[in-house]
Amino acid sequence: MLFLGGSAIIGDMEKAITRFAPSPTGYIHIGNVRSAIYPYLVARQTGGKMVLRIEDTDRERYVDGATELIEDTLKWLGLDWDEGPIVGGEHGPYFQSERLDIYHTWVRKLLDSGRAYADPTSPEKIDEYRRECNLKKVPFLYRNFRPENPPKWEAGMPIRLKAEPCEYKWHDAVMGDMRTGPEMCDDIILIKRDGYPTYNFAHIVDDAEMGVTHVMRGVEYLSSTPNYLALYDAFGLKRPVLVSLPHILAPTGNKKLGKRDGAKSVTEYRDDGILAEAMLNYLACLGWNDGTEQEIYTKEELIEKFSIDRIQASGARYDETKLLWMNGQWIRKIFDEQGAHALYERTVGFWPEVAGDYSEEYRIKVLAIVYDRLKTLADLRDMTGYFFKDPQVDVDMVVGNKFLKKMSEAEIEDLLKKSVGKLMGVQEWTADKLQEVLNELLTETAKKPAELFSLIRLAVSFAPFSPALNLTLEVLGREVALARLNAVAEAI
Ligand code: GLU
Repeated sequence: MLFLGGSAIIGDMEKAITRFAPSPTGYIHIGNVRSAIYPYLVARQTGGKMVLRIEDTDRERYVDGATELIEDTLKWLGLDWDEGPIVGGEHGPYFQSERLDIYHTWVRKLLDSGRAYADPTSPEKIDEYRRECNLKKVPFLYRNFRPENPPKWEAGMPIRLKAEPCEYKWHDAVMGDMRTGPEMCDDIILIKRDGYPTYNFAHIVDDAEMGVTHVMRGVEYLSSTPNYLALYDAFGLKRPVLVSLPHILAPTGNKKLGKRDGAKSVTEYRDDGILAEAMLNYLACLGWNDGTEQEIYTKEELIEKFSIDRIQASGARYDETKLLWMNGQWIRKIFDEQGAHALYERTVGFWPEVAGDYSEEYRIKVLAIVYDRLKTLADLRDMTGYFFKDPQVDVDMVVGNKFLKKMSEAEIEDLLKKSVGKLMGVQEWTADKLQEVLNELLTETAKKPAELFSLIRLAVSFAPFSPALNLTLEVLGREVALARLNAVAEAI
């Protein structure tokens, strides 16, 4: 039993060595990136190390460029690693395909001690055994068909563990105390026919060589743990802390979120205008909380507050609305704490094309009045077009507006003309002054704010939403605002 309860964990976790060990089979999607975030937080919290290891021994599933995607994702989220591709380290190489000698050296020890054997059985024969079990309705356990006098190993032959069926007990830091019977122990393959190791074998060797203290990975590996324990024992290795991370569930139903259910690549969210801080915050808190009501965490706060014992054992549901809410919070947080310029730097590539003709100074002014309505940075594209290009005049939109419906077209035209007249007199075109003048205009025309302001707002923007009217007018500038009001008055 390793530990129970929070305080014990800190002691146990002194200088944790953790790892993220993805297979380069495609992009990293949000369903599996917590297997990178949590090990990172534990390594940083304890002043330990985070290793990035690329598990590329399944040559059939290997996808070119996937490693770069993985690196890109981690970098974007701010999850730097201490050992692994790019940065190197004393336990490399960090691609399993470059470590074949190491696996062969390790498996040799098991062959020599009689804990592994070369298996000459043909795949056809194995299928026959499997069918036999199916017919008898008994579980297929390879150890029941183990060859009696295994030959000396030759290239092309798989190497299997010689299981010693027994009961296993272990503690999983998230799932609790576990126990399995002998039926879970089998002669698993360690080295495949192609000479590559299986995941089951390679990760044990690598974790041991790399000094990994905490194995944090998806819960799908929980049922194979007895075989891993058999290998730790066969090599006389100390068991690492085992941490099974529950699935992230699809938005509906009880299925885990997978690529087939539309789980997007993490970096696709970046392209959709999600901030890295928000993504990290959201994913870290998907199935973990620190026991308080806090929802917004910086990376530093997560490092400080994260604890394995508060990871929830049941699946956590992916909820895009929550992610968007959190992103909005982060957009405001960056603006409020770091200033307009800091947020502006994140918005490159998210403006409508026409914004390119305007100065950075002008775009920052626009940002400063719209930022608190943004859910994603990409909202800028739809929400700010009228700051950069005269909108298409749409008379129907004006006369059909719910606040203006009661007025005749002549009344609307008259109100617009009065507004133009009044605004033309404004010398000091500032938000404060404009507010004063708009208030006077309200009294003079005896209109309700909803009527007068909706009309002016529509006429200058033709957008469903805009920031406060005085701010919008200030940023648009005197000339543009008046010209647009006139254009609408003429069109009516
Ligand atoms: N290569 C495995 C995967 O991508 C990693 C499992 C582990 O973290 O040990 O699922």
